Amino acid sequence: MTASRDGFETRAIHAGQPPDPATGAVVTPISLATTFAQSAVNVHQGYEYARSSNPTRAALEACLADLEGASRGLAFGSGLAAEDAVLRTLRAGDHVIIPNDAYGGTFRLVARVHAEAGIEWTAVDLANADALESAWRDTTRMLWVETPTNPLLTVIDVEAMSQFARQRGARVVVDNTFATPYLQQPLHLGADVVVHSTTKYLGGHSDVLGGFVATRDAELGDELAFLQNAVGGVPGPFDCYLVLRGIKTLAVRMDRHCENAAIVAGALDEHPAVARVLYPGLPTHPGHDVARRQMRGFGGMVSFTLRGGEDAALRVAASTRVFTLAESLGAVESLVEHPARMTHASAAGSPLAVDPALIRLSVGLETVTDLVDDLRQALQKAA
Ligand SMILES: *Cc1c(COP(=O)(O)O)cnc(C)c1O
Repeated sequence: MTASRDGFETRAIHAGQPPDPATGAVVTPISLATTFAQSAVNVHQGYEYARSSNPTRAALEACLADLEGASRGLAFGSGLAAEDAVLRTLRAGDHVIIPNDAYGGTFRLVARVHAEAGIEWTAVDLANADALESAWRDTTRMLWVETPTNPLLTVIDVEAMSQFARQRGARVVVDNTFATPYLQQPLHLGADVVVHSTTKYLGGHSDVLGGFVATRDAELGDELAFLQNAVGGVPGPFDCYLVLRGIKTLAVRMDRHCENAAIVAGALDEHPAVARVLYPGLPTHPGHDVARRQMRGFGGMVSFTLRGGEDAALRVAASTRVFTLAESLGAVESLVEHPARMTHASAAGSPLAVDPALIRLSVGLETVTDLVDDLRQALQKAA
């Protein structure tokens, strides 16, 4: 795919999605066929069997690859299926470094699935260069980066990580779920692979599960396409349609997510019941300067700790009216959750265990004064 000269929003709406040549339909059809007619043996229009490729999926793959500046994009049935494909490029005995506050499911996939198959791993605070250096082994083949991280919103310098890993012959994978290609394009910062849970901002409406891998290198793209077909963790055509539809409004949604999150973070920062607000847009955030450099905006996720500890955190999580208490993130409706007992419960007792006084917010697109008022009344109950 050659980089197009059109702007991000134009490509989000049109890349990989020309009007349907058969009918002129301006929306990519949901192509449900599992098999495609051949005019002679092995003579066909690019589609044979829907696990290998499907026209709706192909449109999504072309669009999102374009937005990430990738040579190849591959859609999966979930973010973890996408991550699994990337981890399958490692061989037994290879070592992978993951962030010490990685998404809980990433940690579980590495530590409880791929480790069983002989992959070695270390969880490291990637913001600490000495820790990274000393965790590095001769067998380290992959550096897994998440930025901003979930749920602590740590910002990692993708350019620095990419240089560090490239000098040592390892690949850099960036989980770009929190930022999306609208706010951050890791391949342009030197990373080799981007993974997404398209379940979050890309889908954007809490109604579809999906994953994505985008690669800089065509050869690795071929290897991952082989795995996509051979392992078979592919999304259905309707799911692909929903993600494509979500991507069309990604830019305007992300702008408002960023705007609302900044206001919410500011209000929490001033609240006496709050011990600490974690939001990359706050000048006091340790990753603020790096975020300014590598991101277009600071995103819609805000985490904070309560002075009153876990009890207060649990009361806040149970007391909101507009924020819905639920896992997941990145959609139009605002969500609140308690990572230690919910999304990151599988990390309990591990190096990735989360502070029980922590609350994570996915700031949605409701009227921002309603969001701030809701948090204030919930915090009052926690005092
Ligand atoms: C949700 C999420 C995943 C996993 O994606 P699924 O679609 O739930 O499989 C991976 N990374 C991050 C940062 C996530 O938020």
